Order: sequence, then structure tokens, then C-alpha cells
Amino acid sequence: MISSEQLTHYIYAVRSAILAHEADIECLDREIGDGDHYINMKRGCEAIAGLAEALTKLPLVDALNSIGMKLLSTIGGASGPLFASFFIGMSKTLKVNGPDSAMHIAAAFDAGVQAIMQRGKAQAGEKTMLDVLIPVAETFKSLAAQGKSTREIAGILKQVAIEGVESTRSMLATKGRASGLGERVIGHLDAGAKSCQVMIHAVCDQVLDEQSRQPAP
Ligand code: ADP
Ligand code: MG
Repeated sequence: MISSEQLTHYIYAVRSAILAHEADIECLDREIGDGDHYINMKRGCEAIAGLAEALTKLPLVDALNSIGMKLLSTIGGASGPLFASFFIGMSKTLKVNGPDSAMHIAAAFDAGVQAIMQRGKAQAGEKTMLDVLIPVAETFKSLAAQGKSTREIAGILKQVAIEGVESTRSMLATKGRASGLGERVIGHLDAGAKSCQVMIHAVCDQVLDEQSRQPAP
């Protein structure tokens, strides 16, 4: 259902979206972190875009694993190993189920999110990227199980990602650098949650674009 060729389109779309959001991502990590999150994200995006050609020649499972391994050695910060775990976790689950249905892709996305939770020992409500990723994974699984169309799933996941990043505004931080700042973090969005929302929007927009170019059934 997702080819390695499509994966490279998603990679380029994610890189463009992260670069286009430099100001807000950078500013958020400066407010309640150490200000390097945008640089970390940009470094990761450039490294993966550099691999994109080679990835088209690999099966999707191997391409996702290669992305994880590359991120492990390039992003740095707290977020590097977490994003690496996501892709490696996703790859492992796709290897078992295959990528042939929305339910399998949703299950693989969920496995990636679970891998982040294990690696970072974090849950929902701790003012991290997980406050976008967990609700997106849950909604994705539920919509896929209900047999919703790809177009409908992509549209709803974009909205859930926005709600997720907004939900971090009122949270106290209990993981990562912001966790030492107490009440001062209230009113600020989490930078990692913002970059996940931006990436999810980029992929969903790409999926919606592919759908709009498909001939009507
Ligand atoms: P660092 O915190 O080392 O400077 P980054 O700035 O690249 O690394 O990433 C910070 C982001 O990582 C945070 O905004 C948050 O979303 C995420 N993060 C930090 N710790 C965790 C954790 N334990 N679990 C999940 N996400 C986390
Ligand atoms: Mg940082």
C-alpha cells in the first residue's frame, strides 16, 4: 500500500515542512528548552533526504529501518534516539504484517509510538511529542478498523495532530529539559509536539494530493 517510491515523496515533503517552520519550532525550544530542536530536526531531515534515492531501491521495511539507523547517528539530543526508535519499531511491525492495508500501517505507526514511549519512559500528558503521536496513533487505528477512506483518515489525523500540540500548552512538563521548569512552562507549546504535528501534516497533505490525482472509482 505504501511503496518505497512514495516514501521518498513523504521524506521530501517532511523536509520542506520542517524548513518552512523554522521560526516557530526554534522559538518553542528556546522558550522552555535549550533552543536546538529545529537544528536537530533539520539535520535529521537533510540526512534522510540524502538517503532518499538509495531508499527507493529497498523494500519499505528495510527503508524504514535504514531511516531509524541513520537518525540514531545524526539527530542527537533527546529527540534523535526517540525518532530512531519510531522508525525501527514501525519497520519491525511492518515486517510481520506487511504494508497492505490501512490497519497494518496504523498498527505499525502505533508500534513506532510504543517504541518511543519505551525508549523515553514517557506517557501521554507529560508535554512531549507523545501528546501528538499517541492520539494520532489511537485515532488512526480506530478509523482504519472502521474502514474509513484514506482521504477521510488523512483529514481527521491532521485535526487530531493540531489538537495534540495545542493540548501541550496547559501541561506541566515531567520529561525532558522542560521538566525542571515547573509552572513556568504553562502557556507554552512543546517543540517536539510541534515538529510531529508539522511532519504529520506534511505526510497527510502528500497522501491527500496522491488521492486527488487518482481516477475516480
Ligand atoms: P534536547 O531536549 O536534548 O535538547 P531536542 O530539543 O531535539 O532535544 O528535543 C526536545 C523534544 O524531545 C521535546 O520537545 C519533547 O517533545 C521530546 N522529548 C524529550 N524527552 C522525551 C521523552 N522522554 N519522551 C518523549 N519525548 C521526549
Ligand atoms: Mg532542545
